[in-house]
Amino acid sequence: MNKTILFGGLTPLHELFIKGAVESLGYRAEFLPVPDNESLRIGRELCNRGMCNPTYYTVGNLIKFLRKEAEKGINVEEKYLFVTVGACGPCRFGMYESEYCLALKNAGFKGFEIALLNQSEFSSEGALEITPPFIWRLVKAVWCADIVRDLGYRLRPYETEKGSVNKVIKSWADKLYVVFKQGGKVKDILKALKGLRKDLEKLDFDYLRVKPVVSVIGEFWAHTTESDGNYHIHSWLEEEGAEVRPEPVAGWIDYQLFIEAEKLKQEIKVKGITKSRVKKFLAVKAMAFTFRSLYDLFRSVFSFRPKELPSQKLLAELAKPYFDYFVVGGEGHLEVAKHVYAIKKRNSHMVVSVKPFGCMPSTQSDGAQSKVLSDYPESIFISIETSGDSEVNVKSRVLMKLFEARKAAEAEFEKACQKVGIDREILEKTPSPDNLRKPFVKLSNEFTGTAARFVSANAAFFRTSYTTCKEAGA
Ligand code: SF4
Repeated sequence: MNKTILFGGLTPLHELFIKGAVESLGYRAEFLPVPDNESLRIGRELCNRGMCNPTYYTVGNLIKFLRKEAEKGINVEEKYLFVTVGACGPCRFGMYESEYCLALKNAGFKGFEIALLNQSEFSSEGALEITPPFIWRLVKAVWCADIVRDLGYRLRPYETEKGSVNKVIKSWADKLYVVFKQGGKVKDILKALKGLRKDLEKLDFDYLRVKPVVSVIGEFWAHTTESDGNYHIHSWLEEEGAEVRPEPVAGWIDYQLFIEAEKLKQEIKVKGITKSRVKKFLAVKAMAFTFRSLYDLFRSVFSFRPKELPSQKLLAELAKPYFDYFVVGGEGHLEVAKHVYAIKKRNSHMVVSVKPFGCMPSTQSDGAQSKVLSDYPESIFISIETSGDSEVNVKSRVLMKLFEARKAAEAEFEKACQKVGIDREILEKTPSPDNLRKPFVKLSNEFTGTAARFVSANAAFFRTSYTTCKEAGA
């Protein structure tokens, strides 16, 4: 194929690694710039009325890019092909392709080609060929981006030199891109990830900073993007003193495979057992198992950070009293399930659910979240709607909740100190030795906040130095 493949819609790290993976198969690839409110404006102008915000942002972003290219005298219809993910719905996701076509026509790019990747069937329409090696390379790229991105959010709040984590991640992201471009063999990816770990080990961290852990969930695009589309919620929360837990794209793929397997199970139950149905069912199960194992292999390099992907079966069980998992569209039951999971597993102090303006599935989930909140009043939860223009209001609401989460994190830290039998003031004056200032120090699973987990896991050291400090009259 002579055309350059254009794509976009995830985070900069995902897009860089995907670019490498696509190029490794002999294609030319470019990712679109991060969408901004100008993209939203263009999308609103050129698409149908009543669409959801991600449609406007993503469609508008493509047109904005093409217009700029056309201004340079480039024949964009000859040069580019846009690849996007599609599905049959049932939400507005099923209408993305027609919205792209309408906007392209309205913008004067009628002959511009779009290739559609069908997310539920792993197939494609258009010039791009979806083959097993293509999927495998994409999966490796996406999993790697998930893990490296998550590490950034886990480590940055505790770095003693501002910007040091980003600097190391940036340099290794560029190296990983080359690894993916060269075919992305698992052994080469692991080697690069180990190099990243080694460089992170050279940095200094202070894990006694008490920070609330905040999970960002919601509609897929809205909780994934790092753009105006969600008011840059991840980086903003981090600046406000939170340790952010972003959602991995791997969880979304895992969910798609789970639903596919459940549908096949029902088909076998209702229509009867056939060789082809069983074969398909086993293939989906094998794919899910392989993908999860690969995710675990990559995170093993970083002492199994981030945590494992939650079991889809468990998530479906947790959501059951509130949301049927066969109600698909958007994140289906996942928004509710992730909230209940965060409460039961105590993996965050606060949950922010991001709902794009005009999103049907998220509106349904929000209704169910009220019931979750009445069942678990201890949950610090906030649902926000991103319309592109109410940023100040949204952020001030989030800040109020963040205040509660901060208090919860502080109380938990006090509890951890008491449990270990040390006084917080003395603890904070006790310098941690070098081995406790490393990025992958031991953290206990007893608490939620990193500072509390750190103190609890290294209780023996803190008790000894506490006694020494007390004897020295500190
Ligand atoms: S889940 Fe919501 S925001 Fe996403 S495509 Fe569907 S309607 Fe739009």
